[in-house]
Amino acid sequence: MCEEVMDIKSLTEEELKNLITDEGFPGFRAKQIYDWLHVKLVRDYDAMLNLPSSMRESFREKYPITVVKQVRVQESKLDGTRKYLFELSDGNYVESVFMRYKHGNSVCISSQVGCKMGCRFCASTLDGWERNLLPSEMLDQIYAITLDTKERVSNVVVMGTGEPMDNYDNFVRFYKLLTSENGLNISGRNVTVSTCGLVPMMRKLADEKLSLTLALSLHAVSDEKRRTLMPIANTYSIDELMDACQYYFEKTGRRITFEYSLVAGVNDSIEDAKQLSALAGRVGAHVNLIPVNPIKERDYERGSAKAIAAFKNKLEKNAINVTIRREMGQDIDGACGQLRRRQMLEKSNDIERK
Ligand code: SAH
Repeated sequence: MCEEVMDIKSLTEEELKNLITDEGFPGFRAKQIYDWLHVKLVRDYDAMLNLPSSMRESFREKYPITVVKQVRVQESKLDGTRKYLFELSDGNYVESVFMRYKHGNSVCISSQVGCKMGCRFCASTLDGWERNLLPSEMLDQIYAITLDTKERVSNVVVMGTGEPMDNYDNFVRFYKLLTSENGLNISGRNVTVSTCGLVPMMRKLADEKLSLTLALSLHAVSDEKRRTLMPIANTYSIDELMDACQYYFEKTGRRITFEYSLVAGVNDSIEDAKQLSALAGRVGAHVNLIPVNPIKERDYERGSAKAIAAFKNKLEKNAINVTIRREMGQDIDGACGQLRRRQMLEKSNDIERK
């Protein structure tokens, strides 16, 4: 397979250097351009003041800079969480979220336009998959938010729309750029990537020995139940997933996180909690419980606070490290993917009216 041609903002500093020398300019310009793109976060060659104008002009023509354009932002009055809708250069939309925590600011980014995984409770997959995001398009969600908030982002979670392990090469390249010393230099330990469980890619990621946190969306303790929630469970069994988690831990020394969306009457019984404890114990996983965020297209419901607490207690009694995902920005639109869907719907209504 021939490798995808990368835009300039998706190149490593080394690759940028090769490109620049191929173009007949001195190699030291690479560090300057990399710094403008990934530290100073400029979005236009005109702003790169230490470059000769001939170079700026030729690069503007040949190597357009990929940027995402902010079209909507909603801010929570409760906790300052900001939800962004960005437009890509081809008119597609993606969502990202900025959250303030005591330990620093966190951004949740999308990795694809839409998603093909089809998880039943998830809004991001309702309209299917459109395309992969480039590394630069993943980065620019963080850059645009940094420019907008004027605050440093210290944590990145790849938990927005899309399945990052289904966009593997671009995700790994994104990670390398994000954590590069001459770039934003975000610590790999502060990056979390979430997958619905593409076993071969989880194993491949283990072999890369990156210091990120891998989160597995488990959501059910038996294959049978998991298949009713997540089509991917027809391809990989929980046993295969656990082996991949074990492999990941052995290779990287990093504990996996299980994400478990609690759906009332579906996967939230005390028996479920017991079996989940056994699975988490088997691979030393931390469990992150997510009370399901109901979407109007499906009739999944959230359990009572009491049921959620009982589930958590059961795990704790079994000595499992467990947290309930703190809900941020509850007043600004529900589940992931809904802002984008609303925008698409409004746009198609506009077109119909014209
Ligand atoms: N494709 C990746 C990452 C995107 S979703 C994955 O599957 O992990 C991030 C997390 O949110 C996943 O655990 C996903 O299952 C969960 N999620 C999606 N929609 C949800 C909803 N409506 N309520 C609760 N959790 C949801």
